[in-house]
Amino acid sequence: MKKSNEPVSFQSNSLQRFIFDNAAIRGEWVHLQETWQEVTSRRQYPIAIQRALGEMMAAAALLAATVKIDGRLVLQIKSEGVVDLMMVECTSEDTLRAFAQWDEDQTISNDAELADLTGEGTLAITIEVDGAAQPYQGIVRLDGRAISGLLETYFQQSEQLSTRVWLAADDKVAGGMLLQQLPSADDTSEIEAESWSRISQLASTVSQDELRMIGAGTLLHRLFHEEECRLLSTTELEFACNCSRERVANTISLLGQQDAMALVEEQEQIEVACEFCNEHYYFDKADVALIFAHAGASTIFDSDTLH
Ligand SMILES: [Zn+2]
Repeated sequence: MKKSNEPVSFQSNSLQRFIFDNAAIRGEWVHLQETWQEVTSRRQYPIAIQRALGEMMAAAALLAATVKIDGRLVLQIKSEGVVDLMMVECTSEDTLRAFAQWDEDQTISNDAELADLTGEGTLAITIEVDGAAQPYQGIVRLDGRAISGLLETYFQQSEQLSTRVWLAADDKVAGGMLLQQLPSADDTSEIEAESWSRISQLASTVSQDELRMIGAGTLLHRLFHEEECRLLSTTELEFACNCSRERVANTISLLGQQDAMALVEEQEQIEVACEFCNEHYYFDKADVALIFAHAGASTIFDSDTLH
């Protein structure tokens, strides 16, 4: 089998939907190459964290495709272990970004599993719909299983839909597959249960190598050639970060003029790095003064002169 650092010969950075004509089951396959490498090129992660974050990125793409919304889906692991935070965002513009924070003083073994990295903690799935007042959030407690198992619990809890998830990642690629049983009429439920059992068992034979190195067409044929599996739409995915100098300036303005000026006096400049893309933004004294000049003369006038 090919090494995963050789370029793949199928369409990567995409999500492929599929269905079964002979069963009420839907599926998704995802493969990320450049999209994932944008994350690994921006920050050097220990191998085990990289693998977990890659799996999470593939998972976020799979999950986002199950909810048709305008907005964003965020997968977040918070823990008391060596990894404090892992976060992946997938938007309805089909962009992804991700980062992890960990205790860099600790040695992390290359084959550490998610449970070794995290200990106690939670996996949160947040869905923010544009214009909605409240985001939706589902939370699963970390229980020693990998991300795929936690997501299966999430679907069982939130949608009562049997779902199976397979994930794989290394430093170059992140891939995954999801199968979900669709709600069906009662009189067919026994047949559907049997189909679910048969098709999910076929899917379970998928290997990590196959997820990382084989395109959707070949893989689905290999797994389901005895079933009537049909490819549906493909979505292209890419890395993007929406941070900007303007947004950072906005955050600095929230400090208030006095505190922001005190900070820039003390440190010569304010340096802010975006967690997601590791872009660094610098603001010197003149820049900070400009932020508050832009904030509007009346605001400054009100707070500084009238009181
Ligand atoms: Zn950024």
